[in-house]
Amino acid sequence: MTPILSLSAADLEKWLEDHDAPAYRRRQVWSWLARGATSFDAMRDLPKALRTALAAAFDVSSLRPIATSAADRGLTTKTLFELEGGHSVEAVVMRYADRSTLCISSQAGCPIGCPFCATGKFPFGRNLKSHEIVEQAVDAQRVLASEGRRLSHVVFMGMGEPMANYSAVIESVRRLADPELLGISPRRIVVSTSGLIPRIAELAEEKVPVTLAISLHAARDELRDVLVPINRKYPVRELVDAAQAYGARTGRRVSYEWVMLAGVNDTERDARELGVLLKGRNAHVNLIPFNPVEDTPFHAPQRSSIRTFKEQVQAQGLNVTVRDTRGREADAACGQLHERVMRGKVAVS
Ligand code: SF4
Repeated sequence: MTPILSLSAADLEKWLEDHDAPAYRRRQVWSWLARGATSFDAMRDLPKALRTALAAAFDVSSLRPIATSAADRGLTTKTLFELEGGHSVEAVVMRYADRSTLCISSQAGCPIGCPFCATGKFPFGRNLKSHEIVEQAVDAQRVLASEGRRLSHVVFMGMGEPMANYSAVIESVRRLADPELLGISPRRIVVSTSGLIPRIAELAEEKVPVTLAISLHAARDELRDVLVPINRKYPVRELVDAAQAYGARTGRRVSYEWVMLAGVNDTERDARELGVLLKGRNAHVNLIPFNPVEDTPFHAPQRSSIRTFKEQVQAQGLNVTVRDTRGREADAACGQLHERVMRGKVAVS
């Protein structure tokens, strides 16, 4: 059946009109979905006949949860969803004192192939449709609502390269931000990219001022060519120029992500090169301790090395934080639950 969120507002209103229902019923349906309704029958302020007609025509969601894991005493939960056609993607909910953040997937697999990433090790599946991206957020909101929480932030840092699925990602961002659906401010939505420069320029013109995060990981082309292979096409200096142009156009400070790999990109030389690359730019550097991935040659640095690296970067005038290691037990690095399910180490429900 057709997933209800695959219809635009206009298409759903047309369907309602064809079924002798007023257009405002569309807002009621969306409001129920945003509050976590799992069936049309639960939408109590709709007439019974309309609920029956909706249930006969549509699915509330196209996603099927097939595995879950939890960590941090339940503050981090991860769900593996099966998509129509059989591919699967992960979504991670992280609960904090002042916010609830969803890490969302935009592709099943990823064509970029970063060698330290669990997702990049599997063959690329397919792009997600915009409704499949939004449905991950609706599911997270359902879970959070049952805990008296509300989804407040979304980061496109799950499986896939968001800019390689550009139109669906932009459409989903508009839906996430729509006050009639989830109403998440674009400022609380982070879109990350490994560096598809033409798409960054396009994003700046969309009038959805999301925060841009660049998966940097290395400041010299020679190393970044290996860690983030798209760098061979879009070199690092040009990438940073494009990202900063985005920041200037939108007024949003750009975030640079740096997964810390022991002995690979955590040396004094790397810190110095990072400082030179971003010096004088309105930028924030986020250091991410590596979450070990099986069958890769990479390791997480010692805490002391991370601290030293941070101080070396800070000493060059950059703004730096170390991201907490939420969800290590939850296989929370992108692609890890998927990988464990594929290897048969996690039971599939
Ligand atoms: S790190 Fe991101 S861009 Fe690289 S392979 Fe993994 S999902 Fe793709």
